[in-house]
Amino acid sequence: MNEYDTNRIYDIAKSINYKKTNELSKADCYVLNTCHIREKATDKVYHDIGRIKKNFKDKKKPIVIVTGCVAQAEGDILLEREKYIDAIIGPQSFHNLNQIIKNIEKKSLRENSTSFDVKEKFDTLNNFKNSDSSVSSFLTIQEGCDKFCKFCVVPYTRGAEFSRPTKELIEEAKDLAKNGAKEITLLGQNVNAYSHDQQKLSTLISRLSEIKDIKRIRYSTSHPKDFTKDLIEAHKSTNKKLMPLIHLPVQSGSNNILQEMNRKHTVQDYLEIIDKLKAVNPRVKFSSDFIIGYPGETENDFNDTLNLLNKIEFINCFSFIFSPRPGTPAAKLTEIDYNVSKKRLTIFQKTAEKIKLKYKKSLFNKTTLVLFENKTKIKNEFFGRDEYWNPVIVKTKQNLKGKLREVKITGGNQNTLYGEIDEKLKERDFAA
Ligand code: SAM
Ligand code: SF4
Repeated sequence: MNEYDTNRIYDIAKSINYKKTNELSKADCYVLNTCHIREKATDKVYHDIGRIKKNFKDKKKPIVIVTGCVAQAEGDILLEREKYIDAIIGPQSFHNLNQIIKNIEKKSLRENSTSFDVKEKFDTLNNFKNSDSSVSSFLTIQEGCDKFCKFCVVPYTRGAEFSRPTKELIEEAKDLAKNGAKEITLLGQNVNAYSHDQQKLSTLISRLSEIKDIKRIRYSTSHPKDFTKDLIEAHKSTNKKLMPLIHLPVQSGSNNILQEMNRKHTVQDYLEIIDKLKAVNPRVKFSSDFIIGYPGETENDFNDTLNLLNKIEFINCFSFIFSPRPGTPAAKLTEIDYNVSKKRLTIFQKTAEKIKLKYKKSLFNKTTLVLFENKTKIKNEFFGRDEYWNPVIVKTKQNLKGKLREVKITGGNQNTLYGEIDEKLKERDFAA
């Protein structure tokens, strides 16, 4: 979501003549867009500002703005401790960016803008065309969260659940398609809680599937509690545009821990959703998020998590040691020994990597459909992703950007697959 926000922050600043630059020591305005989901984010802000200061030691000070969830959660402290920061802007206030920049330029005013004006934000953003021209683009459809898992900062930094109007999303998706997008990933902290005027995520997907140039649709991140029947039905193999990889965070394989976390679902609920999805579409596969070493996690709880990992054989896992986030209920709990958590994380990740490698090897010598996104730094190499979001690299002299091609997988490792294109095969066309 920060990537989407960063693009939109640029769209806003562009209207007052700011341009992106790769020459970091020459910029006259820095916007540091931050994430607060795990530790070290605040340290990174101070570190980045230290680098900017060093670059500008003998030059005019640039404007320095901190946006995102660190700004929301720790704005006052940042402004107090680091005088080099000109403004703090929360994730629901960045539509005010241009006014804030003008105030800094004219009056050297320091500002702290962290109110939750999410509707006003999107209403304002609609005045700025989304200029993202990536083959695979993000589209934020929902923000915030009402679930209050005990470990998570999102309800405090992004605020309550908010869904954008469907009409506005279709317009933005059409703009992205005009810019060259072939794939759209619908984003939300709780994307499947999307609801606006009787429209749900399933109906939105079906409306977006009508846009001819959009060939692939994904969504992230879902919560098991909101995995409704209509969304399961949307995965029927008849919808060729909705990709068969479902990212469904479970966090733990132990019901005790899930309850402690206030997740509002059990392991059995989770397994039931998976079974139902496989019943409507046997091609679906799953990826997930896990928190290891949550306060109170016993060896048995951890083994339950390992068992779940082995049972589902997730093709991709994001796993993190529990990080106490200031202001969340879990931050007050007694942490378990860090070395125990570290050991468990290593065991978990090794198991997950083994599963991933076995899966990747099962793709060798098979043909898969790849959407190509860009050239790599190596001559005549193109990067793309298959339906399951697996990175695929091929050697070719053709310009494949934005093309869907059948690729024969010739090898690879747990991260990247390598393949070759049957140059005679025509681009496969998808029915809308
Ligand atoms: N809404 C999604 C869900 O319900 O699972 C997750 C979104 S959360 C912004 C992204 C991921 O960050 C979570 O799935 C969780 O694994 C991880 N995460 C969040 N808070 C964390 C914490 N305090 N410590 C470690 N990992 C955390
Ligand atoms: Fe955070 Fe997801 Fe829980 Fe909401 S549902 S509080 S975003 S982990």
